Amino acid sequence: MKKNVLIFSLTLILFACGSDSGQQDDRFYVVTTTMMLEDAVQNIAGDLVRVESIMGPGVDPHLYRATPSDFRRMEQADLIIYNGLMLEARLAQVLSQQSERAFAAAEVLSNDRLIEAFEFGGNYDPHVWFDVSLWIDVVDGIAVKLSERLPDYSEQIKENASDYIRELHELHEWVYDEIQSIPENRRVLITAHDAFQYFGLAYNIDVRGLQGLSTQSEVGLRDISNMAGFIVDTQIPAIFLETSVPPRGIQSLINGVNQRGGSVSLGGELYSDAMGERGTTEGTYIGMVQFNVNTIVEALQ
Ligand SMILES: [Zn+2]
Repeated sequence: MKKNVLIFSLTLILFACGSDSGQQDDRFYVVTTTMMLEDAVQNIAGDLVRVESIMGPGVDPHLYRATPSDFRRMEQADLIIYNGLMLEARLAQVLSQQSERAFAAAEVLSNDRLIEAFEFGGNYDPHVWFDVSLWIDVVDGIAVKLSERLPDYSEQIKENASDYIRELHELHEWVYDEIQSIPENRRVLITAHDAFQYFGLAYNIDVRGLQGLSTQSEVGLRDISNMAGFIVDTQIPAIFLETSVPPRGIQSLINGVNQRGGSVSLGGELYSDAMGERGTTEGTYIGMVQFNVNTIVEALQ
């Protein structure tokens, strides 16, 4: 009983904070779906805009459904930025209703740079943020969009974007060098779902997800058995959890490897479709990529 009252009060406080800031802040209001996009806007437009993402840490964008407060925020937004390529599958309808104010940032990439995914409803793989060179073009696309909408600040936006993109180029090279430091026979990244295909292609590492491109399907026993056999045969030392996917599948995989007389350790938890807590290093795009790469390199060395 007491607990319910507490939760109710907290909800009221949160609700009050949210609506107050909405009334007092008259800056251009950007609502993004993921935190990666929020971080991009933050780096490009800083204090010029108010930006909020509707999905927080640990939230799976494939399965996310809009809440009443999300609908309200999207209605109030001057610009809605979403990933697109069907990442936010269950928001497709609401985003299409807001089409005149909504911008699919990953869809600025030309089709020949995208990975075709026939098993994903004939769409392209939406996880473009893990090839930093693709993300650079997404960031640039967001900068162009924001400049159009905020012509008075266009110079500043372009300058911020070019500073940030310079940092991203450095990050791209660093990731490549770090991943090449893993011995070739152990350069295999096995995670809960197929979020790292672009990462694998860009940084020369074999990538395998226990689930497909989306987390909507269940992990089958056959998937676990095939992957366990692969791990025993190749003696891959570690596999990885993802913060936005329940650990069940990866735990079953470790059991499967043990049952076959092999052994594999848990290399840690990677940020795949969601970033870390706001205010932490892993709550930024650059920090998240660095954290993932350090975790992968340490576990596979
Ligand atoms: Zn995903």
